[in-house]
Amino acid sequence: MSTCLSTPADTSAARAFRDRIIIRDEIDRYLRDGDFIDEARIETALKEAVNPDPARVRDILAKSLAIETLLPEETAVLLQVTDPELRREMETAALAIKHKVYDNRIVTFAPMYISSYCVNRCRYCGFSADNHRQRRRCLTMDEIRAEAAAMCGRDGHKRVMAVYGEHPMTGAEFIAESLQAIYSVEVRTRRGKTSVRRVNVNAAPLPIDDLRIVQKGGIGTFQVFQETYHRRTYAAMHPADTIKGDYDWRVTCMHRAFDAGIDDVGLGVLFGLADWKFEVMGLLMHSRELERFVNIGPHTISVPRLHPASGSDISRHTPAPFTDEDFVHALTVLRLSVPYTGLILTARESAALRDRCVGLGITQMDASTRIGVGAYSDAPVGQEIDKQQFMLGDNRTLEELICDLARRGIITSFCTAGYRCGRTGGCIMDALKTGKEGKFCKVNAVLTFREWLDDFASPEALKICEPVLQSELDAIREQLPKFYPTVKEHYDRIVAGERDLFF
Ligand code: SAM
Ligand code: SF4
Repeated sequence: MSTCLSTPADTSAARAFRDRIIIRDEIDRYLRDGDFIDEARIETALKEAVNPDPARVRDILAKSLAIETLLPEETAVLLQVTDPELRREMETAALAIKHKVYDNRIVTFAPMYISSYCVNRCRYCGFSADNHRQRRRCLTMDEIRAEAAAMCGRDGHKRVMAVYGEHPMTGAEFIAESLQAIYSVEVRTRRGKTSVRRVNVNAAPLPIDDLRIVQKGGIGTFQVFQETYHRRTYAAMHPADTIKGDYDWRVTCMHRAFDAGIDDVGLGVLFGLADWKFEVMGLLMHSRELERFVNIGPHTISVPRLHPASGSDISRHTPAPFTDEDFVHALTVLRLSVPYTGLILTARESAALRDRCVGLGITQMDASTRIGVGAYSDAPVGQEIDKQQFMLGDNRTLEELICDLARRGIITSFCTAGYRCGRTGGCIMDALKTGKEGKFCKVNAVLTFREWLDDFASPEALKICEPVLQSELDAIREQLPKFYPTVKEHYDRIVAGERDLFF
């Protein structure tokens, strides 16, 4: 396996790679009207919103409940709420919005780390080229197929987030080929067969032509986190001579994705690097800019928080400490500010905190998570800091998570229908904003949950989960009486062993 460009000693090769990747015109055309992350406006809005009037807060909540994206000044008001009563009202509104847009379900996925080779030197990351302790690996296509088989055959995952460092070994062609390798795997289960049905990608920003190649490979959501929207902090975390050191290349990557035909994108920041209120404002401004640009906001927003990583002092001494209370408030404000978006909370956080955040409008969680490269096919050895990007806080299996959710009356969905039925981009935005997608979600959640229970659940899990499934079926009969017979007919076919039915 090649190790080229994995150390800073390879500077001339690294420079040539950077010159090939970053295309100045593919930045400038999107920033012609200036920087859409307006730092001065963020600072002023936050300053002017201190001690907000409760009546103003309630007016803003009404706008969120109507599934309208907030203005930066409105988000600033919500961020500055400190009164516990008012915060509780905000949390109630956040959950009501989640139910209106996404119904009573959590979608699960698992990350597949494909390569830990990286030319960048992000100061918080275990994959940094400066970290010589990292034992690096890049999977072959056979190894990728083995990972996919383990993920869908053992735990029953249908959705994978493929994760890559930035390196010439893992360019656009490699990414596209790896997506095809994952989709190609089919595994027999005890009652039918299964496969990974949606592959999302978390990778570095790419030029438009490269993004077209990845799009043809069958990408689901293209996820790139800005890490921090605060330029000074960004410069301190990402050395200027690296590709990632170019803030503008990163902040314009979703514009390029849309121009390349990828209409399903995910934003995120790495909380703990800069002031969290600033970051929430940055996420809102980025979402509004995408709405302005193509009338399509982010399909998801992720909220990773800095966790210990091998070779990184910064990851152990968070530059901008961010308490659990701040985290809960940030999530609540995000749900209220971009009401249609999916919110992803990963296993970086503890089980207790994740469980609490389910009540605030989270829509996606990972489980049975392993973040070492090749870790699903390797014998389980627990977490090894020098073989993974950072340390995880929640080690629950998928079945444990599903049962914990079911005990609270929440159904787990394995639905991947929206993307496969063409409900993406502008089409999904309309469906989400009007609550239509929630209805599809409810039906597809029931069908895919039945499938997972029959193929993977233990007898104990079945006992815990059947009542939730039954109550969701009853709700469909009540709320969608005309549609119910068709749903029930599909449901019975799944019970009889047919697979992958959806609306
Ligand atoms: N290399 C690509 C990039 O940087 O865009 C792919 C993503 S990286 C493998 C996935 C994400 O992990 C990063 O965008 C960052 O937000 C997050 N991450 C990096 N170091 C972390 C740490 N110490 N704790 C938590 N999350 C971290
Ligand atoms: Fe590389 Fe991404 Fe880690 Fe930065 S965050 S060092 S780009 S893998």
